[in-house]
Amino acid sequence: MISAQGIHKRFGSTEVLRGVSLHIDKGDVVAVIGPSGSGKSTFLRCLNRLETIDRGRIDIEGETLVDTDAGGVCRYAADADARRICRKMGMVFQQFNLFPHFTVLQNIIEAPVTVKGLTREAAIPPAEELLRKVGLLHKRDAYPSHLSGGQKQRVAIARALAMEPDIMLFDEPTSALDPELTGEVLRTIRQLAEEHMTMIVVTHEMAFARDVSTRVIFMDGGEIVEERPAAEMFASPAHPRTRAFLNHLA
Ligand code: ADP
Ligand code: MG
Repeated sequence: MISAQGIHKRFGSTEVLRGVSLHIDKGDVVAVIGPSGSGKSTFLRCLNRLETIDRGRIDIEGETLVDTDAGGVCRYAADADARRICRKMGMVFQQFNLFPHFTVLQNIIEAPVTVKGLTREAAIPPAEELLRKVGLLHKRDAYPSHLSGGQKQRVAIARALAMEPDIMLFDEPTSALDPELTGEVLRTIRQLAEEHMTMIVVTHEMAFARDVSTRVIFMDGGEIVEERPAAEMFASPAHPRTRAFLNHLA
């Protein structure tokens, strides 16, 4: 579903990604862990072109989003193609990013109407179905400011799902939430995993990573230091940097 090879990215003189390679198969649930500043968000953002890369190659479901030629020049797919390719991925951010002046329902149907060209009438029933799925149909006409953080994040998940992505990218979806609200969001993500949605989840929730993911990736200093099946990663991390990170959390 996703193949990233040798991704390099710098901001000014700082090399933030130093040759990151990752392969994601259909149904994989990959948890990405690692210290703050290690490049986790930047890597996710590169996958869906929220950031451009400096070197490397990204293929999404067999289509090349970006490649680098022998001369080291990075070439992206033409704009329309790149947009279409990236639409296969839905993304959920730490800060929800809901449209504050739209109701919950309007938030969800916005992209299906403006991007996919559905009529409002056609977009509303599937949007309501998604709201039912995340347990928020009763908030259909509420504005985001009247929702709890956990509810906002569940709306954000429903909104991403409304574009029918094949892959979901989550960037610390519970980090902005009070501890008592993380459970409802993690349950929603867990439910997606049970439905075999392909997902990459950047998270600090180690219990969630261990229980829900198929693989765990530890990033540090712009590199993937270790990549293991979830159970192994937590039982016996191989790399000293992974061990130090996990010990520090414990
Ligand atoms: P993580 O998500 O693992 O905490 P990030 O990918 O957000 O790490 O950041 C990796 C590094 O890149 C950090 O040093 C951060 O300060 C830097 N960085 C991220 N985004 C930008 C940006 N837009 N401009 C400059 N530096 C950035
Ligand atoms: Mg981050």
